[in-house]
Amino acid sequence: VLDYFETRCQGSKRLSEQAKQVIPGGVQHNLAFNYPFPLAIRDARDAHMTDVDGNRYIDFLQAGGPTLLGSNYQPVLAQVQTLLHECSPITGLLHEYEVKLAELVCQVMPGVEMLRMMGSGTEAVMGAIRLARAYTGKKRVIKIGGGYHGWSDQMVYGMRLPNTGRMEAIGIPRGATATTQESLPNDLDAVRRKLMWNRLRGGTAAIIVEPFGPESGTRPATRDFNAQLRKLCDEFNALLIFDEVVTGFRAGMGGAQGYFGIKPDLTILGKCLTGGYPMAGGIGGRRDIMMMLVGGIGTTSKRAFVGGTLTANPLSCAAGYYALLEMQRTQAAVKAGRAGDRLRQGLEQIIERFGLPYVAYNMGSIVHLQTSGVMLLDTSNLLKLVRAKNEAKARKHMMEEMGAAYTAHGVITLAGSRIYTSLADTDDVIDDALNRFEDV
Ligand code: PMP
Repeated sequence: VLDYFETRCQGSKRLSEQAKQVIPGGVQHNLAFNYPFPLAIRDARDAHMTDVDGNRYIDFLQAGGPTLLGSNYQPVLAQVQTLLHECSPITGLLHEYEVKLAELVCQVMPGVEMLRMMGSGTEAVMGAIRLARAYTGKKRVIKIGGGYHGWSDQMVYGMRLPNTGRMEAIGIPRGATATTQESLPNDLDAVRRKLMWNRLRGGTAAIIVEPFGPESGTRPATRDFNAQLRKLCDEFNALLIFDEVVTGFRAGMGGAQGYFGIKPDLTILGKCLTGGYPMAGGIGGRRDIMMMLVGGIGTTSKRAFVGGTLTANPLSCAAGYYALLEMQRTQAAVKAGRAGDRLRQGLEQIIERFGLPYVAYNMGSIVHLQTSGVMLLDTSNLLKLVRAKNEAKARKHMMEEMGAAYTAHGVITLAGSRIYTSLADTDDVIDDALNRFEDV
């Protein structure tokens, strides 16, 4: 497979060798897995991408999630082009699209009464935590699971990188993570114990959770767990922060909070917020908390500072506004979710037929392939442990090798273990992909 991959992808190989001379490791994006080397893409449109060698792929990476409408969705592109002719990507002053985008997000997201644009999901997490600490006057933050909430010092707590050990050990002073704690999903007693311990030690400012579970639901969390977190936060006067960087608009226009019917105090947005255009990040939440971000001449004495020269630029806000309107009009989350269902069902049949050591499951447009037992929600929303057949044979690196094999056969996934579907995934695209998975 690797030979086949190399032969077909000579141009990508050449460019990645060239990149290594001037870019550390030749890779700047944490999704560009370099196994055996990253692909260099020439164009991406709807459900497909083409690399510099002219190979065409079904795109199940969708940039890691932002392009719920499919890549380079033309109606949004047209609006962005108009804006660029009329205005500028950046002015440093207020633009109408900032207001339009904020109004729309407040309208569709139950827990968002006000919105502050940020430059990325990472920045939005940093801002939300600062805001939570300023509002509550407390300092500790409990994150649920060792999932990714961006790469800020405090949030890498508990995260591991392949072959490098704990991320926090590298270039991050111990103090930066001293007030971060980790607790596993679906274990309420453990969360309560931490809240009680913290009560005597400066208190808990916030619990931050990806509502579908860490890593886009790699370890799924139940609705009930989220509902109980809401109650615990109220009991201990901590803020509940939903990290909806992935689920925001992908789980429906109301995000996972709309899906579950649970209102967080603060919401982190990213990815889908601009439909794939740069500078996708936002903090949303309760008005009384958000008002602490008021800048300029003071209207409040308790103020938390966030910044960013390029945040809320007209280009990102216009792209976001039109992308969200299109997601609403086309029911993108529902349709991408149906594509996810179809794909997962097909993958399950392949796994069964060939006795593969995998489990396939999906939460709408987020599809997972895993090698080991995973807690899944059955239809009655109870947890059950599903184990892959022949689990012992499976290894994580095998998923990555399989990922390379899928790529060689024209399907790009996230390291062979995660798939994001989009509005562009028609039944034909899904069936084409399933044939390719079966070939592999
Ligand atoms: N939170 C979650 C749940 C994410 O998945 C990500 C990115 N994958 C982030 C935060 C960080 O967002 P960004 O890459 O925009 O900094």
